[in-house]
Amino acid sequence: MHEMSLAEEILQIIEDAARHQGFGRVREIRLEIGQLAGVEVDALRFCLDSVLHGSLAEGARVEVEHTPGAGWCMLCGMTVPISALFDPCPRCGSHQVQPTGGTEMRVKDLLVE
Ligand SMILES: [Zn+2]
Repeated sequence: MHEMSLAEEILQIIEDAARHQGFGRVREIRLEIGQLAGVEVDALRFCLDSVLHGSLAEGARVEVEHTPGAGWCMLCGMTVPISALFDPCPRCGSHQVQPTGGTEMRVKDLLVE
């Protein structure tokens, strides 16, 4: 499952940060998930629950911020908002839209103690 490997990646990032910054507990994890990243937030939360179990981030609150999707329409020659991959351009209806924003997921911030 896609979300399970994402959850494992997140734990990896947290453990690396803990090593470098020397913190022992994580109270809150803030994630930024793009509207076009194809991440099921509920599934990700579920996977994080099991992946973080027994780790330094066990029981941490998971906050998710959504970044809006955007694409470059070749016909309009401009950036347009899109809410899903392969959505047509909202201005001209063309499908020649290259996703340019909101395609990523990243760990934005950690609240540690
Ligand atoms: Zn267009």
